[in-house]
This record gives sequence, structure tokens and C-alpha cells, in this order.
Amino acid sequence: MSLFKPLDTKVEEKNEKKPAGEAEKVKCLIIGSGPAGYTAAIYAARANLSPVMYEGLQPGGQLTTTTEVENFPGYPQGITGPVMMEDLKKQAQRFGTDVRWGLATDVDFSGKVHKVIIDEKHTIEAEAVIIATGATAKYLGMDSEQKYMGSGVSACATCDGFFYRGKDVAVVGGGDTAAEEALYLAGLCKKVYLIVRKPFLRASKVMQDRVTKAPNIEVLYEHNTKELRGEGVVEEAVLVKRMGEADEKEVVIKIDGFFLAIGHTPNSGPFKKYIDTFEDGYIKTIPGTSKTNVPGVFAAGDVQDKVYRQAVTAAGSGCMAAIDAERYLSEKH
Ligand code: NDP
Repeated sequence: MSLFKPLDTKVEEKNEKKPAGEAEKVKCLIIGSGPAGYTAAIYAARANLSPVMYEGLQPGGQLTTTTEVENFPGYPQGITGPVMMEDLKKQAQRFGTDVRWGLATDVDFSGKVHKVIIDEKHTIEAEAVIIATGATAKYLGMDSEQKYMGSGVSACATCDGFFYRGKDVAVVGGGDTAAEEALYLAGLCKKVYLIVRKPFLRASKVMQDRVTKAPNIEVLYEHNTKELRGEGVVEEAVLVKRMGEADEKEVVIKIDGFFLAIGHTPNSGPFKKYIDTFEDGYIKTIPGTSKTNVPGVFAAGDVQDKVYRQAVTAAGSGCMAAIDAERYLSEKH
């Protein structure tokens, strides 16, 4: 799901105090509302930066699509992703963050003041901008993926693998993420199928070696997933071996969990005109900081992190972005 599609009419209701065509001036604008955005908001609000946050198409970010979060420090009993995001939002609002519906559809970072267009209509002129728009996991596009979302389908083994201890699961993908997720799950699960559409893995050699040496990982080369089936939860996957070939055949595997690892797309689209990104779209930050190539524009969370991608690391980088923004603004004034 892209973060940058036009939203429904609710946006207009919430934004009615800002007439079209008239730019609104803000000190600190935060775009995106996952753990990175909310943490940036908490720090920015407590530093008197009066942050305004636009939540994006998926308020709360990717965590709102997971069930239990058990690895975020401070929740000994675990917490659901949506509740945790609601708590973070309340905490950000408690210190005065102005949280609004809306999407950043375009930007102009060519001047001293950074212009951000919301929903193709409203212009915000911000002295500092924190981009925390996250990344979107890629899915195969099957109807059954949506049906079992949170009931056997996940795009994050580190987040959800624990719930499949001692069970049989499948991971789709042949890159480093898939290899890493398969190895992580192999340490928890009875059996892990790695479903690879090509006759080889794309993952680095070292990861390939680890995968092939793991006794409980079975790599199913040249397999594509057709559908998932089960009573309320995933119970089996229907695969097609050598799809389109003369010897094509259907294979059914019994599994409890189905993990997507076919890549993520960072939500950096509207910023690319001005902000340096890697080839795959992740925003480049100066190492050890949240600073981008444009002074006063900072990036935090998954939109600039393809390695860790955890709620806690996103939150940490959101904190860094707010501190960097605060220092930038105090040096400017
Ligand atoms: P990649 O793009 O490298 O790999 C995606 C994999 O998913 C490929 O094997 C691809 O197949 C497969 N795939 C894509 N679409 C489909 C589909 N519709 N059906 C079935 N399979 C599909 O993504 P990753 O997330 O693995 O890695 C992204 C980048 O991050 C890479 O540069 C990687 O090296 C890096 N990375 C580094 C890590 C580390 O250093 N520890 C850890 C994780 C990632 P195909 O090969 O056929 O195209």
C-alpha cells in the first residue's frame, strides 16, 4: 500500500482551518506516524518545537498490521501493535503535538524554508522537516494473504516468529532478507520451507551456505505460491512447481505461518527530487545522524533503514531526528 495516494474526505474535515492556497508556517513538521514519527514528535514537543505531524495513509505505520509486540522494551506482558501506536500518539499529543490526517504529496526543498504540500492542496512552510514515512513490505498480491493477515501471514519474522515456536512455517523470497528470516525461524520452528521462484538464491554466498546447512530448512526452488488455505488461520499453502513449464505441478505444504520476505519499498517517492537516496529508494543520512543532504531535513525510521527495521530502532532514530532538528533550529536563530 503506498503512503502517497489521495485520502478520503476526512482529510478535508480535519484540515479545514487551513484554507487552500494559503501557506501555513510551522517550526517542525513530522511526516509519518510510526514509532519513528511519534518518538520524534514526543522529543520535538518537549523541546518546544510545536511539532505538526501528518499521519499518512496508514496511521501508526506497519506495526498496526501486526498482532502482539513482545520485543519492545517496557512491555513485560507484550502489547498489540495498534494499542502501542495509540499510546505513542497520546504521549506525543500530551506534550502538544498537532496530529493531523493527511499525506505529503509533494515537496519543494530548494529554498531556506521547506515547503511540503499536503493532499495536493495545502502548503506547509516548515523550518525543519522530519521524514518518517516508513517502508511498505511487498506482498504477493493474493486475496488469501489479506484474508489471513495477522492469522498466519506476516512480513516480519523477528516480530512474529515467536508465535510459531515448534511449528512448521514457510518463508517466500530468495534474497538476504528471506535467508535471514528463514534462519531466524529455523531457530524457533520445527520446519521452515523457503519458497524461491528461481532455481537459485539471490542471497549472499554466506547466507546461502547457512541456509543450506540448516537441517530444518527445506529450499523449494522454482516454486510459486498460488494460495493459502485454512479454517480461520493458515493451515496450508498451495504452490506451483515449475510454473508455465510442461512438467508444472501443484504442491501442497502444511504450514502454520507464511512469512513474506520479497523486499520492502521505502516511502521516499515525493522527496527524491531533493533528497539523496540509494538506488533502492532508501534515504541517505549522514552516518551517526539523521541529517539528509538538505540542511533542516532529517530522516528517521524505516525510510532510511533497510538493515534493522525494528520498532525500537525506528523509535531511536526518531529521537535522533528531533534532537538534530532542535540543534539545527537553535543554531539558525
Ligand atoms: P531482494 O530484492 O534482494 O530480494 C527479494 C527476493 O524476493 C528475491 O529473491 C526475489 O526473487 C523475490 N521476489 C520478489 N518478488 C517476488 C514474487 N512476486 N514472488 C516470489 N519471489 C519474489 O530483497 P531483500 O529484502 O532480500 O534485500 C534488500 C537489500 O537489503 C539487498 O541489497 C540485501 O542484500 C540487503 N539486505 C542485507 C542484509 C544484511 O546485510 N544483513 C539483510 C537483509 C537485506 P528473484 O531473485 O527471482 O528476483
